[in-house]
Amino acid sequence: MIRIEKKEDCCGCSACVEACPAHCIRFEEDEEGYRYAKADPDRCTECGLCEKICPVLNRRPSRRENTHVYALRNRDEEVRRASSSGGVFSLLAEKTIAAGGTVFGARFDAQFDIVHDGADTLEEIVRFRGSKYVQSDMGDCYPRVRKLLKEGKPVLFSGTGCQIAGLKGFLRREDPNLTCVEVACHGVPSPAVWHRFLAEQRTEAENAVGVPARLEHFSFRDKSNGWKRYRVSARYSGPQGETILSEPFFRNAFMRGFLRNLFIRPCCHACPVKNFTSGADLLLADYWGVDRCHPEMDDDRGTSLAITLTPRGEEILHAVEDEFVAQPSTLDCALAMNQAIVCPERRPAARDRFFRMIRQESVSTTVARLTRTPFLKRLRKKAGKLATRLGLKTGKR
Ligand SMILES: Cc1cc2nc3c(=O)[nH]c(=O)nc-3n(C[C@H](O)[C@H](O)[C@H](O)COP(=O)(O)OP(=O)(O)OC[C@H]3O[C@@H](n4cnc5c(N)ncnc54)[C@H](O)[C@@H]3O)c2cc1C
Ligand code: SF4
Ligand code: SF4
Ligand code: SF4
Repeated sequence: MIRIEKKEDCCGCSACVEACPAHCIRFEEDEEGYRYAKADPDRCTECGLCEKICPVLNRRPSRRENTHVYALRNRDEEVRRASSSGGVFSLLAEKTIAAGGTVFGARFDAQFDIVHDGADTLEEIVRFRGSKYVQSDMGDCYPRVRKLLKEGKPVLFSGTGCQIAGLKGFLRREDPNLTCVEVACHGVPSPAVWHRFLAEQRTEAENAVGVPARLEHFSFRDKSNGWKRYRVSARYSGPQGETILSEPFFRNAFMRGFLRNLFIRPCCHACPVKNFTSGADLLLADYWGVDRCHPEMDDDRGTSLAITLTPRGEEILHAVEDEFVAQPSTLDCALAMNQAIVCPERRPAARDRFFRMIRQESVSTTVARLTRTPFLKRLRKKAGKLATRLGLKTGKR
């Protein structure tokens, strides 16, 4: 029977919850807003299935030796603009729909919670486009995938590495109709912190117009100022019209806290699926550092890093090759600026303080306090910039 001794021992994939034949495992939310599997010992039959399929207890071998690496850009500029990186996910999703298949991915629901869902039409897959930096609720997606595969239908399942490892554990067999696309994963923020942040932002929007406002659209990766200096943008509507709140990612409290690891899931600091061990066919990421390795592929509108991990991954990429601009690359180049693909993020000392402080303060105030650059460091940075401008020091190239 599954027993979560330490929070690092459960990534919340939901495989055991869905697979338990006695239906005696449920999720319980902790004080940080993450859900953990909890089995009822009175109903457990000790069949051992949960322990056999849990991705934290059962690590897969690395597929590092079989990789092929590419820098890619979707030729459709509209789709690329709306995607986080080079828009490769949308190409694969469209191909799957054209073949009569179903695509699984993460979307916002009506309350702007992040949920995993399946889609059978081109209109529906648009909702999966773009990264949502919050742990998604898998719902009943694993049993839905199993049912579709049993019917012989093609399925493209996208998600974080642990969600893919969870699905593979749940299915317990390979299926030629299943393609798994992993998104590189820095870690997943707490849904509860996301909720708090949204409530604070809504108040800000309402204060701006003096009347209730309704969130209509949220983008974690608004590229209107470029891919590298992306913005975080939200559109609210109210009786007075629309209010747009938009700021560079490095000023946005939620993104600052996320990127400084103040509220990613404990398991992410000991991620069980780094280094190509999720079982996915293909891994997609931002090609950070493409300007150094393949400057011709960088127009600051988004370049994807695609790493194929199986012949199936290579096959689905080739099936859409007319629709993207491609440049073969190497793992060394790909990983130089994206260590998140192979190494878990460290757990900062400030993480515990963050969760203590938000009991009294807003998310924005807490993040601002915990990520403030010390005065002396700021002073040194300013002096360095001034020296460069005056020609006393050469700038960084
Ligand atoms: C939580 C998270 C952390 C990430 N960390 C990194 C990183 O450190 N380095 C890096 O290079 N890339 C990271 N990415 C991946 C990157 O942001 C892009 O999603 C990826 O490059 C695909 O981009 P695209 O342009 O091809 O398609 P897009 O349309 O931008 O991507 C959409 C895909 O992301 C999936 N997705 C969106 N939100 C979630 C979610 N909450 N949970 C699971 N799947 C989701 C959708 O299902 C779909 O498959 C992260 C993504 C997420 C969701
Ligand atoms: S051992 Fe079997 S019955 Fe018990 S919790 Fe695990 S899957 Fe359920
Ligand atoms: S990691 Fe997944 S399978 Fe393992 S205990 Fe947590 S929810 Fe269950
Ligand atoms: S960092 Fe690892 S454990 Fe955390 S959500 Fe991403 S894939 Fe899962």
